Amino acid sequence: SDVGSQKERVVTEEEWLQKWEMGNIGFHKEQRHPLLQKYLDVLLNGRSGLRIFFPLCGKAVEMKWLADMGHSIVGVEVSEQAVKDFFSEHSLPYCEEPVPEISGAKMFQSTSGNISLYCCSIYDLSSSIVGKFDGVWDRGALVAVNPCDRQRYASLMINLVEKNSSYLLVTVSYDPNKHKGPPFYVPESEIKSLFG
Ligand code: SAH
Repeated sequence: SDVGSQKERVVTEEEWLQKWEMGNIGFHKEQRHPLLQKYLDVLLNGRSGLRIFFPLCGKAVEMKWLADMGHSIVGVEVSEQAVKDFFSEHSLPYCEEPVPEISGAKMFQSTSGNISLYCCSIYDLSSSIVGKFDGVWDRGALVAVNPCDRQRYASLMINLVEKNSSYLLVTVSYDPNKHKGPPFYVPESEIKSLFG
């Protein structure tokens, strides 16, 4: 597990915006993630009407799926294009408003009110702005965070969850010398030290 070659790598917000602009979004999947279907019961743990957070959400189709089940979804994504594509691809009417606490940020909310997507950097969020969550679906999120920002990301996520919450995390396992990432290889030992 030599991750030396990835440690220093930085992908800027501008580069992410460019990926969306160029349609270079191989990470986006039209089908629901099989692991979310498999572990849905673990996420819900018998509860209904949860507040579920999607960090670095892109236009993940699972947001619509969970919202249709009666949960309330909050996502954060730097690309406004991704956020708008999400609503238009699911034919969901939405409104757009500024976020007073974060300069330049906008919040896009489905008219029905159950999906709220913040267009800003995740590092601008705090529980005083978005509240706390009962569940987290972290796919393409921790593994997309720059290695130098992982600690900050994990501390923020710990702050954003309720005591009795469930956090589903998807990682990828491969030889980090053969691919520069993202997605980055995050060893299990590091996940344990990040989240405790
Ligand atoms: N979770 C999604 C998208 C994964 S790709 C899915 O499963 O499809 C990672 C996404 O994070 C990209 O859409 C990128 O634009 C966004 N992103 C990268 N850095 C971010 C940051 N600091 N804050 C919010 N979004 C970010």
